[in-house]
Amino acid sequence: MRWNILITGGRVIDPFQGIDGIRDVAIDGTRVAEVGENLPADLAERVIDASGRVVTPGLIDLHVHNYTSRGNRPSVDSDTTNLANGVTTALDAGTATPAEYPHYWESDIQNTRVRLYSLVRMPDPHGPDPSSAGEVKDLITSYDTLLGVKFHHSQHFASLPMAREAADFGGGILMCEAYGAPIPQLLDWMNPGDILTHTFHAAFRFPIFDHRGDVWQKIWDAKERGVYLDIGHGARGFAFRTMEQAMAQGLKPDTISTDVHVGNIDGPVYDMPTTMSKMLALGIPLAEVFDMSTRIPARALSQEKELGSLSPGTVADVVISKIEAGEFTYLDVLHEERSANEKIVPETVIYSGNVYDGERYSPVEMTHREDAPPGFILTET
Ligand SMILES: [Zn+2]
Repeated sequence: MRWNILITGGRVIDPFQGIDGIRDVAIDGTRVAEVGENLPADLAERVIDASGRVVTPGLIDLHVHNYTSRGNRPSVDSDTTNLANGVTTALDAGTATPAEYPHYWESDIQNTRVRLYSLVRMPDPHGPDPSSAGEVKDLITSYDTLLGVKFHHSQHFASLPMAREAADFGGGILMCEAYGAPIPQLLDWMNPGDILTHTFHAAFRFPIFDHRGDVWQKIWDAKERGVYLDIGHGARGFAFRTMEQAMAQGLKPDTISTDVHVGNIDGPVYDMPTTMSKMLALGIPLAEVFDMSTRIPARALSQEKELGSLSPGTVADVVISKIEAGEFTYLDVLHEERSANEKIVPETVIYSGNVYDGERYSPVEMTHREDAPPGFILTET
């Protein structure tokens, strides 16, 4: 047998290769072997019929929290919340401090089937457990899985220059929360390849618009120089009205991510496919939604040659999804509703050539309401 798995007859959406059409995908071991039309089924050990389905690279979520072994909020289990929903690669957005990172790596990152990268949260220089930029730089250069530094909204602005320095000297990226500081000042610290997360947040402070309601010129400048504008939905980080106002001015996100944690996994975030389906509700076409969830985040991780594509020779992370038709209503962090007539539902998830057969987290009643941002009147739903 030439191939372990052959996926036949699906609509392959692979923006990296410029493919959007009916193709077969052959997998040999941990790698994609071939993508083509009418590949011979008798050369495969296992054939998966994907007729009527969409076949894409594994999804990449650039904002998760998966340090569960620390035992306190806000992390959720990686495999049952990521992999089970089609996310084969995820970036933990600074759940661990530099001091915690070795434990996180040992206890969690090594034991997850999801390809889990991470950022460390830069401690406040005046806080209880400060780290020097040099220490964080050494950590970044010691672990392949550690890609840079996160600046969290609760942090003192004084930690931002240190985060910048640690990221630069460690060759890593800096992720900033868009409501962490006034946007123009924050963006002054961000370089090409950095990630602005919660970009379309609920604007309870530090909005992405100036006093006239126009997207700050510095947002456009940041996008132009290669800063990624990321969704990072979370419990506060995504409002339909913000994104609509931005889109009316021509601004779209670069990457889609969830910021899924215990405070939003039972709604309104739920998971990556739901977050992606919300983009459909705002009028972004399906193929572009997958581009924002595969090729572009792979580039943000500097993994464009390995991940986020079905090019022969790349890692065999593949998702077969049903695109359900119907009337679907979605909620944002303000509990405002938008509806779409399509919903992305991953059915088969393949990671490094293995079909995922594990559990999937089942949401319970939403607890997010108490955590809603101040300054907004929530409409009852
Ligand atoms: Zn987060």
